[in-house]
Amino acid sequence: MKKVLILEDEVNIRSFVVINLKRAGYEAIEAGTGEEALRKINENPDIGVAILDIMLPDTDGFEVCRSIRANNKQMGIIMLTARTQEMDKVTGLMTGADDYVTKPFSPAELTARIDALYRRIGGDSMAASELLTQGPFVMNIRNHTLEKSGNRIRLTQVEYSILKLFMQNPGRALSREDILSAVWGREYEGELKIVDVNIRRLRIKIEDDTANPIYITTVWGFGYKWGA
Ligand code: CA
Repeated sequence: MKKVLILEDEVNIRSFVVINLKRAGYEAIEAGTGEEALRKINENPDIGVAILDIMLPDTDGFEVCRSIRANNKQMGIIMLTARTQEMDKVTGLMTGADDYVTKPFSPAELTARIDALYRRIGGDSMAASELLTQGPFVMNIRNHTLEKSGNRIRLTQVEYSILKLFMQNPGRALSREDILSAVWGREYEGELKIVDVNIRRLRIKIEDDTANPIYITTVWGFGYKWGA
């Protein structure tokens, strides 16, 4: 059964999420503190998606997200944001989260986001070992790894999916909407800004000079283009 970790200190919200996860066919692993969440992830390496509350008694969800990402680039991470401030969303994405859900949320919305992340994690498992090579970059489709000039670059699932889309469409201008629907799914109703935040993060990882990007170039008023 597919495992999902829910880190939330408010028991009522956690139980609500657990019930809905079970109803959607997931096994729920519960944690009430950041420390407990990291321990359970250690004990359950097959957890595919983690849902992280931000306000916690011992730490905050961003720190937990950073700790997970230090060892694990594959896990899907959804932040539960209580506030609607843009900062929370951006901070979450910059620390390596894949998505966020704002409280109060509907169970259908949350499980749709989890389903989408799980699809992305498992989506390429049937593909044979395959390399995408462009310029200094070599992407291994089977292992979800990227090398630049022989050096491994660590990517989150979302960053990987975006870069794969670019490398499969070299020289083609992709709109933010194209990227959003290809990477997050057509049913995703989030903001286009999430694309820009991820592009900014990708540029930091792959460009020689982020002020003058040459691999992911901006197509003004439209979107982005892969120019390696
Ligand atoms: Ca909380």
